Amino acid sequence: MKILVLNSGSSSVKYRLFDAGETVAKGLIERIGEPGGDAADHSEALRRVMESVDLSGLGAVGHRVVHGGSVFGSATVVDDDVVEAVEELVPLAPLHNPAALSGIAVARKLLPDVPQVAVFDTAFHQSIPPSGVTYAVDAGLAARWQIRRYGFHGTSHAYVARQTAELLGRPVADTKVITLHLGNGASACAVAGGRSVATSMGMSPQSGLVMGTRSGDVDPTVIFHLHRVAGLPLDEIERSLTRFAGLQGLAGDNDMRTIQRRRDEGDAAATLAFDVYCRRVKEYVGMYLAVLGGADAVTFTAGVGENSPAVRAAALDGLAALGITVDPGRNARGDRVISPDGAPVAVCVVPTDEEAEIARQTEEVSSGQARR
Ligand code: ADP
Repeated sequence: MKILVLNSGSSSVKYRLFDAGETVAKGLIERIGEPGGDAADHSEALRRVMESVDLSGLGAVGHRVVHGGSVFGSATVVDDDVVEAVEELVPLAPLHNPAALSGIAVARKLLPDVPQVAVFDTAFHQSIPPSGVTYAVDAGLAARWQIRRYGFHGTSHAYVARQTAELLGRPVADTKVITLHLGNGASACAVAGGRSVATSMGMSPQSGLVMGTRSGDVDPTVIFHLHRVAGLPLDEIERSLTRFAGLQGLAGDNDMRTIQRRRDEGDAAATLAFDVYCRRVKEYVGMYLAVLGGADAVTFTAGVGENSPAVRAAALDGLAALGITVDPGRNARGDRVISPDGAPVAVCVVPTDEEAEIARQTEEVSSGQARR
């Protein structure tokens, strides 16, 4: 089946066309609505996409949608009710959901006979039990304001956990995997039998691991203190914790390659940033080993996870007593399995492919609809 995958951001549209699972075209329309940009609005951007690829025989369009709230536990064929529900979730994802909605609206208009499928970043984590998504805050406030853990990067964690089971030659249904998505954004996930049972991002992508520019976990009192004692306005605190924190905040640079180079040269700030980053990953691995009651594999993915032997080695250093070791030669070569043969816990490196997973889910959901 031919599937078009669209990832609509506020000022860009990324697209990839799959035919029978293979990529046959891809591209990026950038700086939408900006002077000199590729398109004046999303409508023009999508018309551009459709002019540049051969859509004859298109079976479905898959849309990446960031926030599915508590409503969507799986990918869904888009109808008016789905659009309305995604609109209602805009307060939870004020930058991302409106962009996806405009992509969906334009695609429905231009391709009225093709099923449109929404694939949510949060959906995979809807299987986490209540004890793993409930914050211990005033229950009335939480219910009224939809305050809970949702988790993100779900498409990537789902894909990587399945690929890991395949790599180990085991059925997904009885495999326990800790997946570590370490890119610009970063999150950890505990996956049991192909279902998410814990994840590090929360109500927003802000919590959990240290990221390129986001802090990950901090005591909420940091915010009160910066507001009351330092006198910073809330907007500025938000900017600081989301754009000027993480590696950027600690060492003035959000690129792990630069951090590593400076660390090799003996730079103290870069060394601390690297150590804080890797220690946080290790803490989550320990937590998720406990949540899962032991794991078959720990898998690294995304920019840092796929490309940094130093981060992989440091994050899992000293865990031999828990069955986790990294073989230095395999790690340096970037093998798919970097633990020694026969290790109790396999350590894997699996390239993520969110678009391929969106295409797979889109095909599954839209052909399911056709059968009905
Ligand atoms: P995004 O989350 O935007 O999709 P990626 O998954 O591509 O990002 O990850 C981007 C990050 O990967 C970069 O910021 C960079 O720090 C890191 N990275 C890429 N290559 C390497 C490398 N060889 N060594 C260490 N880090 C790397």
